[in-house]
Amino acid sequence: MTAKSQETPANPSLADPHIVRRGLLFIVSSPSGAGKTTLARRLLAADSNIAMSVSVTTRAPRPGERNGIDYHFVDRDAFEIMKTRGDLLEWARVFDNHYGTPRAPVEDAIHAGKDVLFDIDWQGAQQLSEKMQGDVVRVFVLPPSGGILEQRLKTRAQDSDETVARRMAAASAEISHWPEYDYVIVNSDLEQSTGALHAILTAERLKRERLLGLSEFVRDLQAML
Ligand code: 5GP
Repeated sequence: MTAKSQETPANPSLADPHIVRRGLLFIVSSPSGAGKTTLARRLLAADSNIAMSVSVTTRAPRPGERNGIDYHFVDRDAFEIMKTRGDLLEWARVFDNHYGTPRAPVEDAIHAGKDVLFDIDWQGAQQLSEKMQGDVVRVFVLPPSGGILEQRLKTRAQDSDETVARRMAAASAEISHWPEYDYVIVNSDLEQSTGALHAILTAERLKRERLLGLSEFVRDLQAML
């Protein structure tokens, strides 16, 4: 995702290049079909300081999915090896498949002051929150109604009817975790929801505790007054 950088990263949100910050882990969860993947793509297109975490999964690729871009598609043995070696930051079983977040790209990115976007479920959000508490921002995306969720799952048309039915049943369980998130977006309008997601990211970047070097900046500022 990002190469390890020895340089001090500038903060694009602030005019002074001496104020730096750690990158944040921006987690977006939702039941399948709530529009999270589209929202994530739009956010990535709108903001160059955030990169997607590409998960490993044992699930088969869907038509159009590319290895190394949408997921790293691996078999069960390779997944277990990564887990045992400690190469995964978190992992979970979802719909009989295994998913996990590769550790190294995330650690490299946040040390370089880059933010990382995660499309992971509530289990992954819980694990990242426990391990990297101060760096995590969690957003839950809700569909505007059950009917719209079902319609979106059907028109996606890449999953079998049986899979759609299972995902509808699982949606309720996933949604029950909404109180564990910092922000909730009801995705009835894609444009508005993208704006809301970007606004959350912008505000979180400006949080005082994330801005390293701020005290020095203020001290220098006061010295000039
Ligand atoms: P899908 O198979 O539709 O791509 O993803 C199914 C679910 O797995 C989604 O809720 C997605 O957010 C979640 N997921 C994808 N990658 C990961 C991961 O690395 N870790 C966890 N915990 N969940 C993931």
